[in-house]
Amino acid sequence: MATLPSLAHNYAQLQKQIEEISQQTPYPSPTLVCVSKTANLQQMEQLYQLGVRHFAENRPQIFMDKYRSFHHSDIIWHYIGSLQRRPVKDIINQVNYFHALDRLSLAQEIQKRAEKPINCFVQINISGEESKSGLAKEEVEEFLIKLQEFDKIKPIGLMTMAPKGASKASCFTIFDSLRHLRDQLQTTTSNPQLTELSMGMSGDFIPAIQAGSTFLRIGSAFFAE
Ligand SMILES: *Cc1c(COP(=O)(O)O)cnc(C)c1O
Repeated sequence: MATLPSLAHNYAQLQKQIEEISQQTPYPSPTLVCVSKTANLQQMEQLYQLGVRHFAENRPQIFMDKYRSFHHSDIIWHYIGSLQRRPVKDIINQVNYFHALDRLSLAQEIQKRAEKPINCFVQINISGEESKSGLAKEEVEEFLIKLQEFDKIKPIGLMTMAPKGASKASCFTIFDSLRHLRDQLQTTTSNPQLTELSMGMSGDFIPAIQAGSTFLRIGSAFFAE
């Protein structure tokens, strides 16, 4: 388990790298989200003290436990895992950003349970890998049009994951096509608020920044010893 010196070192290193790469692109610097799913509360507290405010979890029960025990009013919570309908009611009103909207039945459940509009990323399976969840590129336009009926769903962008072990070049191609898709959907679905791109993890955040990511979801690079 990473200790305070390594957490501080990793965080500083990440910030520096993100800034450096970002400066070589025409895009603004993305928001760094700490994926704390493998971390304990003490490590999260240490990261909070270092200045981290964005935390992401991917299991409903662990999210709820951490949400209850981590007492800072200015934490920005992200939920990044695939979600069944049943736990939606337990978590959706505590989440600031939901990154895994991938089907209409889930949108219906969020609509039913949310007390305010929820910032949602539509998850896309750009690479077409069978093991990955998310909509196919071709399905997104119709999906976004259907979402217009749901006043508790605020689609703010697209999310994707590159296949494990993909080269930097093929990650870039995947992330770049997600950006193109977002730009195209802003006009075809008259969704001007579809501005965000949730892409880039520990192994592929460099090509993600180069392709215009606005939210990086980074876990293991924070917690390496
Ligand atoms: C775990 C996870 C991450 C972070 O992955 P790392 O490789 O540890 O940075 C990002 N996104 C999703 C959806 C995850 O489940």
